[in-house]
Parts: sequence; C-alpha cells; structure tokens
Amino acid sequence: MIQLKNSAQISAMIEAGRITGEALLIAREHVREGVSTKELDTLIRNHIEKSGARPSFLGYSGFPASACISVNDEVIHGIPSKNRILREGDIVKIDVGAFYKGFHGDSARTIAVGNVSEEALNLIKVTRDSFFAGVAAVKAGNRIGDVGNAIQGCVEGAGYSVVKRYIGHGVGRALHEAPDVPNFGTAGRGVRLCAGMTLAIEPMVNIGSEEVYELPDGWTVKTRDGSLSAHYENTIALTSEGVIITTLIDKDW
Ligand code: MG
Ligand code: MG
Repeated sequence: MIQLKNSAQISAMIEAGRITGEALLIAREHVREGVSTKELDTLIRNHIEKSGARPSFLGYSGFPASACISVNDEVIHGIPSKNRILREGDIVKIDVGAFYKGFHGDSARTIAVGNVSEEALNLIKVTRDSFFAGVAAVKAGNRIGDVGNAIQGCVEGAGYSVVKRYIGHGVGRALHEAPDVPNFGTAGRGVRLCAGMTLAIEPMVNIGSEEVYELPDGWTVKTRDGSLSAHYENTIALTSEGVIITTLIDKDW
C-alpha cells in the first residue's frame, strides 16, 4: 500500500533528506586518488550520527556499512573497504541513506576521481539529466510509467542503456515502500501520482548492455560486459505545490 505523507511528515523528510545530502557533499570533498572507500564511508557515518540521525543502510538486510560505494563497472551496492583505493580516472558511485525523526532520505551521486574520460563524464551527465527528465513527469494525475518512460527516453536517446533489474521505490518510514519506480516504462501506464507521494527516483545507466550480475559477496552488482555504469538518485516529495527534492542540497549537483 502506498503511504501518503502529510505536510508535517514531508517536513521531517526534508530534514532527513538534508542530512543525507550533506553527507554526500562531505564525501565529494574527500574523493581523490589514494582514498579508500572505507574512509569515505566513515566520513558519511560520522556526519549522519553527529546530526542525530542513523545510517539507513547500516545493518539493512545485514549490509555492513553506512554507504554503498561502487567503482567503475560496479553498478550499485558496493561494500566499502580499506583495500579499495580510488585511482585517477575512476568513477565512484556513493549511495547514502539517513533515518531521522522517523523518516528516510535516500540519495546517490557518481563522482569522477581526478581526470576521467570524456565518455565517463558524458555518462555521468546523461544519468543526472535522466533523473531530471523523470522528475519533470512527476505531476498529480500522471502515472509512474510517465516517469520511467521519460528516464528511458533520455538514456537511450544518448545511446546508453537503463539497468532494469534494479529500480527506484517509494520511501518514507521504510527505506523501500510502494510503489515501484522503474527507470523504464510506457507513458500513461502504472500507478497514478498524487500529492503526498514520496519517491526515490534513481536511474542506473550503463555505457554498454543493461545486463548486470551480483558478486559472490551477496551485494556488489556489476555490469556483465564490464562497461562503466553511473547512478543518480534523490528522494522527492510530490506536494500540492509541486515537487520538493529533499536530498538535493547543491542545486547544481
Ligand atoms: Mg539509494
Ligand atoms: Mg534507493
């Protein structure tokens, strides 16, 4: 069942979203060659806890860290490690959740480590653009299929592929709630959108094929063909006045 939020609940989600977004900004400041993904995870955890919140992912289905950090052909759910050292030319995806006053924020960014290829930069840009194409379709009366169709059109129009095995979701008191929010779909189909819905919209985009697989660690998801993948996610709230992007702190990022 879809849990609609009232304005007080959306205010709490804005606070949770702010903490989530701030944690990503702190991580971005520290992304550079030589840094381990574990160091980034620790910075994220410290910020969330110092803010009086709890890392949403820590212990979720047994996940052992506060952020999912995935490098290059890793798509999502990478486990931070002191042995995973970032190198110039890498792209790193950092996915963070914070639980505050009973509600979650959920947000991800893809960050270039130093100088990266033009193609990697374009992938990161298209993935972000596809999120905003999806958000432009979030209007009362529209349907979930309109959102996915807009994302898919943006991604495929650029010659890339949308990962279909993992999707966005409702978010609120639970990290994952109804409805499903696929990054693909048919316009005019699916759940009808209305004020009070809170969603995590999160395109995952591969340069090559959409095929992905999970590593034996039970978490890390990689592209089958080894091509680069990018991820961009925010938590949004649809209100009677329009869309609020709760986790977007730096409007240009
Ligand atoms: Mg996420
Ligand atoms: Mg999510």
